[in-house]
Amino acid sequence: MRGRDVVEPIRRAAESVGGVRDGELAVGRVGMSYRVTNHLQADPKLPLDEAHVVGCRVKSAIRAAVPSAQYMLVHMEPFAAAAEGEQAVLV
Ligand SMILES: [Zn+2]
Repeated sequence: MRGRDVVEPIRRAAESVGGVRDGELAVGRVGMSYRVTNHLQADPKLPLDEAHVVGCRVKSAIRAAVPSAQYMLVHMEPFAAAAEGEQAVLV
């Protein structure tokens, strides 16, 4: 998979995980692999340990969908209805 072909599967994988309300995604090439930065929004009242599990599930779902997504950072944020929503950036 190359270029933008990886962004959609990564976005779908992240969205498929329960507890993810919204998010912002950035994907960059690192040699033959991809670096993925996910800003994921979850229920603001979700306990930190549960939010952490959501983040881990997102990483697993992305790796299953796109094995070349090898460098991943997940940043959990409280869901804000007024947020701009998802944005995919390929650098
Ligand atoms: Zn963030």
